[in-house]
Amino acid sequence: MKGRPAPAGRSPRRPTPELAVRILDRLEAAHPEATCALVHRSAFELSVATILSAQCTDLRVNMVTPRLFARFPEAASLAAASLPEVEEIIRSTGFYRAKARSIVGFARGLVERHRGRVPADFDAMVALPGIGRKTANVVLGHAYGMNEGIAVDTHVLRVANRLGLATGDDPVKVEAQLMALVPRTRWTRTTDLVIFHGRKVCDARRPACAGCPVFDLCGWESRQAWANPGGPGAPSRPRPRRTAG
Ligand code: SF4
Repeated sequence: MKGRPAPAGRSPRRPTPELAVRILDRLEAAHPEATCALVHRSAFELSVATILSAQCTDLRVNMVTPRLFARFPEAASLAAASLPEVEEIIRSTGFYRAKARSIVGFARGLVERHRGRVPADFDAMVALPGIGRKTANVVLGHAYGMNEGIAVDTHVLRVANRLGLATGDDPVKVEAQLMALVPRTRWTRTTDLVIFHGRKVCDARRPACAGCPVFDLCGWESRQAWANPGGPGAPSRPRPRRTAG
């Protein structure tokens, strides 16, 4: 039986732990500054900022959180907040009604179940309102130094598929594939490096394959075309001017 062709943008190659480690070593050398870009001072602040970052840039989130945390500095005050006031503060992050309900619900869950403290436990985290696997992985990794999983956002989905380290667009399945390849001690770092690489180099629409530090290790079939001067990544030539006569 013929295998199904790999979907567009994905690599048909079978990945190995050795390949994953080589790629991560290269990304580490190329992007040593990669880290969580959400400004925070505590696990509580990072949890709220991560919830707000859905469908929004970290830059935008960092613009609203100083005011939000000045007004609601810990779980107890946010749990008691009025939704309209929270909505007004976070409005520019988009989906502000749903996000306001999520962060207030999260704060109430912390107060009711964990005396206002963010639990350093994955299962307890994902049981809280507003917290999914991605947020739990980010918070446990960056606030508590734990390697509980690999946070899979849109950048990790795209880059992992192009590199040939994972297949598919289901974040849970892609996380499981990556965790099977990457040593546990590097899970949090994998998130930071792959997200950073996706933002700075492996752009969704215009990947900078020509200067990519993992070009020779990448499994994406289209990378050569994007690296060629005449390929899809090349700047379009100016049209010749029409001259009169
Ligand atoms: S070679 Fe291109 S597609 Fe592959 S990781 Fe680098 S930028 Fe992304």
